[in-house]
Amino acid sequence: MRPFEYVAADDIASATRAASADHATRFVAGGTTLIDLMKLEVETPSRLVDINRLARRDPSLAAITELPNGGLRIGALVRNSDLAWNDLVRTRYPVLSQAVLAGASGQIRNMATTGGNLLQRTRCYYFRDTAMPCNKREPGSGCSALHGHHRIHAVLGTSDHCIATSPGDMPVAMNALDAVVRLRGPAGERAVPVTAFHVTPGAHPEVETVLRHGEMITAVDLPPLPFAARSHYRKVRDRASFAFALASAAVALDIGNGRIRDARVALGGVATKPWRAHEAERVLKGHAPGTALFRSAAEAELRHAVPHPENAFKIELAKRTMVRALSTVAAMG
Ligand SMILES: Cc1cc2nc3c(=O)[nH]c(=O)nc-3n(C[C@H](O)[C@H](O)[C@H](O)COP(=O)(O)OP(=O)(O)OC[C@H]3O[C@@H](n4cnc5c(N)ncnc54)[C@H](O)[C@@H]3O)c2cc1C
Ligand code: SF4
Repeated sequence: MRPFEYVAADDIASATRAASADHATRFVAGGTTLIDLMKLEVETPSRLVDINRLARRDPSLAAITELPNGGLRIGALVRNSDLAWNDLVRTRYPVLSQAVLAGASGQIRNMATTGGNLLQRTRCYYFRDTAMPCNKREPGSGCSALHGHHRIHAVLGTSDHCIATSPGDMPVAMNALDAVVRLRGPAGERAVPVTAFHVTPGAHPEVETVLRHGEMITAVDLPPLPFAARSHYRKVRDRASFAFALASAAVALDIGNGRIRDARVALGGVATKPWRAHEAERVLKGHAPGTALFRSAAEAELRHAVPHPENAFKIELAKRTMVRALSTVAAMG
């Protein structure tokens, strides 16, 4: 047991001040990622700043509210279950509701928060085993997965330093929807498109997002996107529930006069960050929907995929998952 200090913050300013004090301080929300990693000694914070009480002072942190532009603001402390079952989310952005419900279990979703979900860590076996070298956990120590087991690892956005998969479902749907992450820290507030929030590992796998030390996620904004009412999340995994994605696709299509006017596609389970499929979107736009077109879009997106011996199957799996998700949305009429 490693001792650590526990602080329950009452307002955002004191929370971010407390979190900025030293680099070994962590916010804790639902605790479903962080406490797990502390038990494994992968995370060894000197201090936990509990942010659950913040909603007493600022209820918007735990609320889903309509924005004047027709979008939605999701407070960082909104539990995954409340997000998934919210009527506005289910009708306007079904892809997001489906992605959240495809993740974890009912009990975990009741605890897990929107902010924490965006910051969940990879399930790479070696990252979670402190006896093994891992560049993400211990920069410069090496990557055990590259020449070890890597069936669940990424084929897109990888580097010679890390091939760990970004594990989340919710962030994939948020990427397809062009959501915006709202942050508050000691230096003030800023907003970052979710597509730029997570970063690929490059030479620094320990850096996973653009979040600065002491900064807190306060909300995620969903822009208005009427055609997202025709959207879908498909997840392929080893078990039908309570398992991370081997491949997943979040898709929304705007179809009119027999053509795809606009398309949103993002992939999960196959990349080092939630993967916006811009190449696929380019192929889809302006053309009549159909299986051949969907296959071409998938081929274009996976053209640069880098397989390793155990995870090469993911390339074809990702293509088929994308094609199925696109076909489902196209059939919605
Ligand atoms: C057995 C199991 C199965 C799972 N299966 C899936 C799955 O299939 N799909 C899936 O997507 N997820 C899955 N998860 C992950 C789950 O979704 C995450 O653990 C959860 O969303 C994290 O949210 P939390 O509030 O509990 O985060 P916490 O554990 O409280 O925090 C996680 C990280 O985020 C930071 N943090 C939290 N809130 C904020 C904030 N507002 N601002 C800044 N930093 C913050 C913390 O410091 C910590 O580093 C699974 C988890 C478990 C344990
Ligand atoms: S893939 Fe990344 S997380 Fe896994 S062992 Fe290699 S460096 Fe660590």
